[in-house]
Amino acid sequence: MKFEISKSMENKINNWDKCEPKDVTGAKFAYIFIPTSLGLVIKVQCDVCKRELLLTEDD
Ligand SMILES: [Zn+2]
Repeated sequence: MKFEISKSMENKINNWDKCEPKDVTGAKFAYIFIPTSLGLVIKVQCDVCKRELLLTEDD
């Protein structure tokens, strides 16, 4: 199983969260990959506002 963020996931994440990164590197998301019986679930957490977004492989 490959753990990766597709282009469409990236677009979805960027549309979901518009926070300005506090980190000088520009990084603001934490990615958590959770393999389930229904497929891979990807949890994205914004470091700035602490919101979470759930993505599946189909997204
Ligand atoms: Zn945010």
